[in-house]
Amino acid sequence: MPTHELRRNRRERVDGDVVHSGGEAARRRGDGLTGGTLEPGQLPPTPPAGMRYVGFCGACRDFVELDADFACERAGHPRESIRVALLAREDEPLPHMPALNLGALFMPALWGPVHGQWYMILFYPLWLVLDNLIYGAVHGSGMAVLAVVASLLTAAFTIYYALHANSWGYVRAAADRTPDEYLRVERRWSVAFVLIAIAFLVFASWYNIAVRPGLPA
Ligand SMILES: [Zn+2]
Repeated sequence: MPTHELRRNRRERVDGDVVHSGGEAARRRGDGLTGGTLEPGQLPPTPPAGMRYVGFCGACRDFVELDADFACERAGHPRESIRVALLAREDEPLPHMPALNLGALFMPALWGPVHGQWYMILFYPLWLVLDNLIYGAVHGSGMAVLAVVASLLTAAFTIYYALHANSWGYVRAAADRTPDEYLRVERRWSVAFVLIAIAFLVFASWYNIAVRPGLPA
């Protein structure tokens, strides 16, 4: 299918219609893989000569080669698992998505809102509750078991979230960014969020050790 039809599809998507395609800006710049989201079960157009479609598999949470049925060739996931289709040159290597998003791991409460998941700001009150539980347990006024269980649950959810963050974040950005562009932006967020997380920890430690014991309970 010629490129102009892909472009038309892109416009249809902007108008609120279904179809795939995207990465128009990146394609114009000619800097590599571009992607677009797919409706469940939707097939992309036939790739131009010398090109192939690769996919982002939501079940693998990584880029995969596609079989003749447009399903995940790596693990046999059905076509419905392919969240994004990318047009790549035949000789272009498959991109790779890191399993863990460090920004989401260290600062889920900031990573979420920056990527459209506003409910993640609930992590702030959760951290305050956790801080109080741990403080109470350390100073003998609260149940240690409760503090440990709450900490483990929070840690488990945070890790689960960080393992799925790239899947969410990339699919959301796929129409505007190549995988490389997406990962470059994520690396910057990761550095910023790790620094903020360290600042948070330093402040919380200082407050709990130096300030809080002197305050009336
Ligand atoms: Zn898969």
